[in-house]
Amino acid sequence: MMSYICILISVLLDLGVVNNVLATESLHNFCESDDCQSYVSDVEIYPYAFKPNFNMNLTERIHDIDHFKLSCKRLIEVFPLDQVDGNFVRTVKNCIFSESTPTPLKGPLKLAAFSKDVIENILDLDVSVTHAKDFVYYFSGGKLLPGSIPLAHRYGGHQFGYWSGQLGDGRAHFIGEFTNSKGATWELQLKGSGKTPYSRSGDGRAVVRSSVREFLCSEAMHFLKVPTSRASSLIVSQEPVWRDQFYSGNVKTERGAVVLRLAKSWFRFGSLEILADAGELDLLRKLLDFVIKEHFPTIDSNDPNKYLGFFSRVVTETAHLIAQWMSIGFAHGVCNTDNFSLLSITIDYGPFGFMESYNSNFVPNASDDEGRYRIGTQADVGMFNLERLLDALRPVLTHKQHQRAMDLLKDYPDIYHRRFHELFKAKLGLLGGAESDGYLIAFLLKLMEETGADFTMTFRQLSEASDTQLHSRLISQAMWALDDLASHKLFSDWLSLYLLRLSKQKGDTDVDRQRRMKTVNPRYVLRNWMAESAIRKAEMGDFSEVAALHQTLSRPYLKQDTAEDAGYSARPPLWAQKLPSSDSCEHSSVTVTLRHVRR
Ligand code: AMP
Ligand code: MG
Repeated sequence: MMSYICILISVLLDLGVVNNVLATESLHNFCESDDCQSYVSDVEIYPYAFKPNFNMNLTERIHDIDHFKLSCKRLIEVFPLDQVDGNFVRTVKNCIFSESTPTPLKGPLKLAAFSKDVIENILDLDVSVTHAKDFVYYFSGGKLLPGSIPLAHRYGGHQFGYWSGQLGDGRAHFIGEFTNSKGATWELQLKGSGKTPYSRSGDGRAVVRSSVREFLCSEAMHFLKVPTSRASSLIVSQEPVWRDQFYSGNVKTERGAVVLRLAKSWFRFGSLEILADAGELDLLRKLLDFVIKEHFPTIDSNDPNKYLGFFSRVVTETAHLIAQWMSIGFAHGVCNTDNFSLLSITIDYGPFGFMESYNSNFVPNASDDEGRYRIGTQADVGMFNLERLLDALRPVLTHKQHQRAMDLLKDYPDIYHRRFHELFKAKLGLLGGAESDGYLIAFLLKLMEETGADFTMTFRQLSEASDTQLHSRLISQAMWALDDLASHKLFSDWLSLYLLRLSKQKGDTDVDRQRRMKTVNPRYVLRNWMAESAIRKAEMGDFSEVAALHQTLSRPYLKQDTAEDAGYSARPPLWAQKLPSSDSCEHSSVTVTLRHVRR
């Protein structure tokens, strides 16, 4: 036994000093080495849905939806618009946006879910506006809000490793900005609101299933403290939309839906890439200057090294974001450069997935045949995307600045690793730093990988187990993930090391350790089977499970009776094992075409 441990330790230590981006893998492979609410029709699901928030003077909120005003001035004044008129598909040049009017969804429309948190605390709206007849029209593209000049954004991107040229908002409309009473400006977008000049061969629509997923996951990620776009409402229609969900030639009619989503900025790596590719360098500088001025206020706009400073920040924040994804077992699924935000927030939720049984090869996207975007390679893909971003910046950098940027990129693996290490240390309740912490983390992940223990619940149950329970190795069957982990012959060795490390934390108590760990280890994440179960009902017009999930996921660290009754923290049901990986990208003819190109 001891020699096995010694070998393992030496392997781990070797891998621990690997200083390249593959260290994500090294840690895995080493391893071989509140208040948001949902709302169904006119039925109030939660009796406290309209409970006033006493922190805010209610009179400040907007009660009449017609008084809700947006502004498009900032973007329209700074950037030239597409000179060609009309919503027809084309190659667009010399602009950042095209004017494009949303196509109203065919009714009757239904407000299937909304986020009370976003409505009240970001949009300053009184939640009663959700009852207004026009709410569903304004937030699905059927009617324009005062001040709205809808725009579609021109961007390109590297998809699955290859330059795809012009992509753009094929089915999303920017409808305006809103600056709230806290002084924060948010960009509002409708997703699924019809064709734009960037729709290529697509229909511009989003279906109920993918819209439910984006709505639920973006809100869930916010409450998991991960930088993300937000979702305000989900409106469903009777409009038929044809999709071949599993690329099996089995085209099915689904229903069109629109999500109102928000971000501080929707600009992506691909927003800059398309300008560099087209040689539109004045526009490239203009967009960079705008993003820096609006979103990176600590960078001096007169600094000759401002683009370098910007790149440095994106490198750091991208590394941090991916480390956060890893810390909750989140796989984005489509890490193309057009889906990577310049502000390093999680955007464009498609075939994402939360890893259940620990597996660094977990691929959530059914159409990602080669597993390019498997969970264990996300940090490497981040590096690839940053290299593409640097390619786009190259024309506006001097030779010396470009050299310096290359050096900055070399720091990316370390930046990623440091954050990964910090996050996992916190997940284990470790204070301060001990030399062996990296080993302790890596050892645990190794045991999880070999036993297939559930990622989320292993950490959660370690947070909930008392010191005494752990010392006595009395893991009850209710602690199902730890019970799985305990089947490993080295579990006891790992636990001894862990308890020894905890015992050296001066001034720490077991109660404090558990409390700390429960604030970083969620009890509930959006597992694929949970989303699937809610979607099956939603497709029949019953959004009660979407509401229940939304409610649960807005308090992911808090044990909730309704969530427990629904089995959200229990061992996944047997039928979940037979589920295919999550939805692939929204399966319009656009993605089908791309799939064939990739092969
Ligand atoms: P995604 O993979 O969802 O990020 O989309 C990549 C590109 O395909 C973007 O330009 C999208 O706007 C476009 N696209 C995807 N699905 C559709 C659709 N149903 N209609 C129009 N464009 C689409
Ligand atoms: Mg996208």
